[in-house]
Amino acid sequence: MSKVHVIGAGLAGLSAAVQLVQAGASVVLHEQAGHAGGRTRSFHDATLDAVIDNGNHLLLSGNTSALNFLTVIGARGRLTGPRGARFDFFDLETSDRWNVDLTRGPVPLWVLYKDRRVPGTNMTDYLKGLKLLTAGNRSVAALFGDQGQIYRRFWEPFSVAVLNTPADVAAARLLMPVIRETLAKGADASKPLIAKNGLSDSFVDPALNWLERHGAEIRFNARVDKIVRDDRKVTALASDTGMEIVGRDDGVVLAVPPWAAAALIDGVAMPNKFAPIVNVHFKLETAELPGMTSPLLGMVGSVSHWIFKRDNVVSVTISAADDLARLPNDEIAKTVWNEVRQAIGLDGSAQPPVRVIKERRATFVATPDQLARRPASRTDASNLALAGDWVDTGLPATIEGAIRSGELAAGTLRKLTA
Ligand SMILES: Cc1cc2nc3c(=O)[nH]c(=O)nc-3n(C[C@H](O)[C@H](O)[C@H](O)COP(=O)(O)OP(=O)(O)OC[C@H]3O[C@@H](n4cnc5c(N)ncnc54)[C@H](O)[C@@H]3O)c2cc1C
Repeated sequence: MSKVHVIGAGLAGLSAAVQLVQAGASVVLHEQAGHAGGRTRSFHDATLDAVIDNGNHLLLSGNTSALNFLTVIGARGRLTGPRGARFDFFDLETSDRWNVDLTRGPVPLWVLYKDRRVPGTNMTDYLKGLKLLTAGNRSVAALFGDQGQIYRRFWEPFSVAVLNTPADVAAARLLMPVIRETLAKGADASKPLIAKNGLSDSFVDPALNWLERHGAEIRFNARVDKIVRDDRKVTALASDTGMEIVGRDDGVVLAVPPWAAAALIDGVAMPNKFAPIVNVHFKLETAELPGMTSPLLGMVGSVSHWIFKRDNVVSVTISAADDLARLPNDEIAKTVWNEVRQAIGLDGSAQPPVRVIKERRATFVATPDQLARRPASRTDASNLALAGDWVDTGLPATIEGAIRSGELAAGTLRKLTA
C-alpha cells in the first residue's frame, strides 16, 4: 500500500490516519472544514470569552482504543477525572445526593455495600442486569422499566448517556459491549475521564501534530465531492480543485458522517435517523461550587442530564434532546440554569453568561432498525474502507466507537491490499 487518502478528519479519520502511518503508508487527509475534530472539537466562544467544547464528552478508563490512540499521539496525560470509579449524582425531585463507587476487580463487590450503590436499590436489582444477555431487540425500558429506582437512577440515565436515544426505543443489547469493556471489569476500567483543557487540546491538536511530524499531508477546506470507481476499485477523488488519481496500489478510507457518506457511495445501507444533544455552557464568577466536589455530576428527575465543570465554566449535557432542541435558546438556558444552580449549590444566583449549542445530528439513533443499517468497514471496492461511529464496530456511536472504527478501517485496507 503506497498511499492512502483518508476523507474526514474527525476522530475516526484521525485514528485511521495514525494507524496507517504506523503501518508504513503515506497518508493524505482531506477535511472539508477549516479545522479537524468533527463532532469532537473546541473553540473560543466570544460571549463567554472561554474555550468551550461543542459538547461535553465522557470517556471511561476501559475505552482502550481511545486511550491507546492518546498514548500513541503523546496525549494520554490530557484527560482528567476523579481518582476512583466514582460517579456523583443529584436527584432534583427529592434533593437526594449520592455517589456510585465501584470496587476493583470483576466481582462487583460494591453492590454489597449500601453506601456504594444507588440509594433505594438492593443487590438483586443489579443481578437483573443479566437480562441484557438475552435482550434481543427489546428496548432498555422494556427490559428494566418496571424496576423502580434502579431504572430511574441507573438504567435510564446510563442508557440515554451512552446511546443518545430515549430508553423506550433504545436497543438494550448495545449496552452490553460497553458494560463488558468497562463496568464489568471493575473500577480500573470504569473511571470517568474528561478532557482536561478541551477536546481539541486532548484529541485533535496532538493527533494533527503527530501526523505532521510523521509525514502525513493534511488538507483543510478540502471537501471530496465524488468518489470515482470502476467495478472493483476506487480510481479517483473529485473535488472543486480538480481530480486526484488514486493509484493501483493506493487506498481510501471514507470517514465522514453517514449523511455525507450517502452522497459519496451507492448501494450501502447506513443509519439515517439521528438524535440531537444540547449543551448549555455557563460562565460563573466562581470556581468554588459547594454542590460539586468532582468535575462531573449526574442529574436525575430533571431536564439536565450531566454537569461538567472546568475552572469556572459549568457545561450541562442533555442527550436525546429532540423536544428541548426545538425550544429557543433563552428558554433552554433559563430552564437548565434553574435546575443546575440547585445541583451545584448556588441556589440564589442569577443566571450567568451562557452559550447554548444544539448538535442536531449528534449521533444516529440506537434503535434496532438503525443498528441493522450499520455497514461493515469492508466495501465491494477492494481499496475502499469505511470508518465512523456509525460503522458496525459493535459499539455505540461514541469516541471509543469512532476511534475503533478507524483501527478497523486501517486493518481492512491492510488485509485487502496485502
Ligand atoms: C454534543 C455531543 C456530545 C457527545 N458526547 C459524547 C460522549 O460523552 N462520549 C463519547 O464517547 N462520545 C460522545 N459523542 C459522540 C462522538 O462525538 C462521536 O461519536 C465522534 O466524534 C464521531 O467521530 P467521527 O469521526 O465518526 O465523525 P465526525 O466527528 O462527524 O467526523 C467526520 C468529519 O468528516 C468531515 N467531512 C464530511 N464530509 C466530508 C467530505 N465530503 N470531504 C471531506 N471531509 C468531510 C467532517 O467535516 C468531519 O470533520 C458526542 C457527540 C456530540 C455531537
